[in-house]
Amino acid sequence: MISKNINIKLPFYDKNGQHCEGVVSTKKQADAIKKFIHNIDTGEYSTMELKCLCGNIDPKLDVLLAERDRYGIPFQNVLCTKCGLVRAKYTLDENSSAKFYQDLYRDIYSWGGFTEKENIEHLFREQIDRGKRFSRKLTEQIGSLDRITTVFEIGTGCGGNLIAFSELGKQVVGCDFNKGYLKYGAEKGLDLRYGDLSSLEIEDSSQDLIILSHVLEHFSNPVEELNSIIKKVSTNGYLIIEVPGILNLGHLYRNLLKYFQNAHTFNYSEKSLDVLFTKLNLEIIYSDERCLCILRKPKNWTPISSGTPIYSSDLKNHYLEVLEYLKEIYILENVATELYDEIQTSKNTIHENQTRMATLYRELDSLKKNLDLLRHDNVRIKKNKWYLFGKYSLKRKIAFLIKEISKKLQSKLNI
Ligand SMILES: [Zn+2]
Repeated sequence: MISKNINIKLPFYDKNGQHCEGVVSTKKQADAIKKFIHNIDTGEYSTMELKCLCGNIDPKLDVLLAERDRYGIPFQNVLCTKCGLVRAKYTLDENSSAKFYQDLYRDIYSWGGFTEKENIEHLFREQIDRGKRFSRKLTEQIGSLDRITTVFEIGTGCGGNLIAFSELGKQVVGCDFNKGYLKYGAEKGLDLRYGDLSSLEIEDSSQDLIILSHVLEHFSNPVEELNSIIKKVSTNGYLIIEVPGILNLGHLYRNLLKYFQNAHTFNYSEKSLDVLFTKLNLEIIYSDERCLCILRKPKNWTPISSGTPIYSSDLKNHYLEVLEYLKEIYILENVATELYDEIQTSKNTIHENQTRMATLYRELDSLKKNLDLLRHDNVRIKKNKWYLFGKYSLKRKIAFLIKEISKKLQSKLNI
């Protein structure tokens, strides 16, 4: 627990900072973000205060974590110290939310650098893999999918999650509000419909499996929404619900700011979902920290009233677990950046030093060569007879001179 030794000032991100690195890369996206902020400022979009699901209404029990989201949009996220749930302090009201999802959501939440068609294709491929994962996990948990005939997905996008179930011969239907995505999935042969459970008039207890993939975290009133969804599930039928688990965000995003998103209302952990689903009278068959949950609607299931506090003693001090985790992700992301910068600086210094060393070696080499030349000259000089003459004794000098003179005479006389 490194975070215990490092003092971190909260909120992690104030409202004046930039968006998260790498999440805004096209003009269309930047324009949509500006439009969103403009719509909030001018009152085109109305916001409402969001109360915690545990029933806490005391603002002193909330810890402010962030004042902006990954897109740099002013947006408060708070942690409830009573139950450990992280939620948006304010969110769009029902009408504004519907407008936002139709007008700006997909433009803001898109993968930068791709065309709209490429974005849809990318999502579809991702969904196909996710659908396979869902069907594998469900089979692993319940043995066989034989008793499942009807599969319904809410917020289906382009319907890729349904492919695995369709290939198993199930009767699959998906619904969403994004016409472009629905059209793409329909062209792939899927039965996708515009709208939601209420507008589509799905019969109660008619679906053997309902899928909510990365949808629940967008609900402002999850208890009410889930109540009406569970009604549509057949007795002993199943729900697959997946959200981006807050205690898994390190694997998912590797960055804390990236996790905070204006479209998310409540940010769940496995523990908070377990309490929510238990309160909703569902049987939990499987859950993990990735926040993939498989649930069964039991016989004699009854809905709970939407004001029921979602709380149990299991959640006492859960906020500490969440806060420690968030701090660690924050530290890792910042320390990692600092370390990276330090490594880069060291690399540059090493490179500069290597270049300097190479120059010094060259200079040394040339000095050595010069020294060798000097030594050679010295030896040559020392071997010179007149150099040696200076060092002879007088007696030797006379003998040497006689010898030299006689040599000269002999050569003159040609003897
Ligand atoms: Zn709470």
